[in-house]
Parts: sequence; structure tokens; C-alpha cells
Amino acid sequence: MFFAGPIHPAYFLTRRSALLGGLGLLALPAAGLAGTPAPPGVWPKALQVPGGVARLPLGPAAMRPLAFQNEVPLLVMGDTMEWTALVGIALAAEPAETFITVQEAGGAQRQVNYRIEPKRYSEQKLRVEPRTVDLSPEDQARYERERAHQQGVMATFTQPLPSGLRMQVPVPGRRSSSFGLRRVFNGQARNPHSGMDIAAGTGTPVAAPLPGRVIDTGDYFFNGHTVWLDHGGGLLSMYCHLSAINAQTGDVLKTGERLGAVGATGRVTGPHLHWGVMLNRAMVDPALFLAA
Ligand code: ZN
Repeated sequence: MFFAGPIHPAYFLTRRSALLGGLGLLALPAAGLAGTPAPPGVWPKALQVPGGVARLPLGPAAMRPLAFQNEVPLLVMGDTMEWTALVGIALAAEPAETFITVQEAGGAQRQVNYRIEPKRYSEQKLRVEPRTVDLSPEDQARYERERAHQQGVMATFTQPLPSGLRMQVPVPGRRSSSFGLRRVFNGQARNPHSGMDIAAGTGTPVAAPLPGRVIDTGDYFFNGHTVWLDHGGGLLSMYCHLSAINAQTGDVLKTGERLGAVGATGRVTGPHLHWGVMLNRAMVDPALFLAA
């Protein structure tokens, strides 16, 4: 597995330093090199389908280029030898040839094309409380207020960028492969399932999968008690249906630090963690960020 995979980042850095040093091109001070973010490795895995992530090579450049898709800023990782744009592909995206726009530090703009391949997600039929499918006018108004609030949360794009993208599972337990399922609640079609469900008992601690800052907590109609984390560069994660929230907006969490506990709040069929991962405002499959 190790030998079949890409070159280990440490090896790459060492080799690059040796190469640049040997050619007399290593102008960066040692402290600058040590502070360079590590290359992203192989996480997230590339999967160019709706709900997946495209990894688009941008080539070398002295400074990190900016990249956008439909004017939404994208996460660009790597170093001066090779930059990579990581593009979250919305579940609602149509299979097509499409592109991102790249803005070099010098001002030049170009397009980088990529293809979204088709993926047919299967259907899931669920039985839930009728009041969570046919909303009363009060619940509908509440949901619309909450949706507007969450859209603000989802537009978060901050520095610093994440130093690595390989995530730790937020709670141990059986992981469903239900991401992307087209859902039918009580016989009515609704939005597809945009996260990973992990089965665990009420009260099981939920931990941050990467370093992150808490940017929102609340009790929402569908999602129940919820925590949002910002990992930088438009990479966010959300934790829903919690029985308890153990973090506050503004808290900075390390990988493995507790943010809440598994529960069954909101629209659920039983206790579990719903874990969402968002990249450039697109919910993508969290499994792409896990080692196994
Ligand atoms: Zn779920």
C-alpha cells in the first residue's frame, strides 16, 4: 500500500530541498521552509461525481494561486512545486464538462477544465414523524429562518488553510454508506442524504476529526442539536442530532477534542451521528477524507 501510493510528503520535501539546495536555488530561510504547510497527501480521495471531490493540478507557481468555481473560492493546497485545487462537487450537479477559474498571483487568469462523471445513487425509504414531513406553517417559517442562517454559516472561508486533510472518524461505530441516497420520507421525495450516518448510542462522545474552530451551534428543526466546525479554506464540517453540545462558538478544537454527544434530536429514526463535510459550499462524501 505504502509503495503503491504517492511519494510520502516528507520524502518529497527532503528531495525538493536537496534538489533546490544543490542548484543554489534554495533562497528560503530554514524557518520559512519549516513553516510551509505539508502537501495534502492523498486525502481527500478524488472522485469526480456529484457529491465527490475533484483534485485539479494547477502546476508550479511562486505563490499560491487563487481559484474559484462560480465565484465561490476554492481550497488550493500544495507548495511552489505543485499546487492542487480541491473542488467539492454538489450532489445536485449534472454530469458535464465544466471548469474552474484560476487567478495567478501575477494577475493572469485561466480556466482549468474537468469532467463530472455520472453517479446513480439509490433510493432510501424512511418512516418518520408526519409533522417532520408535512410542516405546519410555524415549522415551515422556523425552517426557512434556520436555512437562511445556515447559508451564512456555509459561506465561511477563512485562513489559515488546513495543514492536512486526512480526517479521524468523529465517533467510533458502524458507518452507513448512505451518503447521496435519494430519500423518500413517508412516501414523499425530499433532498438527498448529504452526510455519513454513524450508529452509536446516545451520549457517546463526538470528537473533532481535524483541528477546527466552532463557528455555529444551535437546535435546528431537521438537524436537531448541531455543531459546525471551520477547518479553513472553505472546508467545514457539521455534527447533527446531538444529545449535548460541549463547545461554544469561537472555541478552537484540536483533532480528537470533544464537541458534543450522540443523540436523536431533530428528524431521526433513532440515535446516531449525522456527519457532514462541506467544501466550497458543497456537501461531499466524508468517507473521501478517512484513511479507511
Ligand atoms: Zn444522516
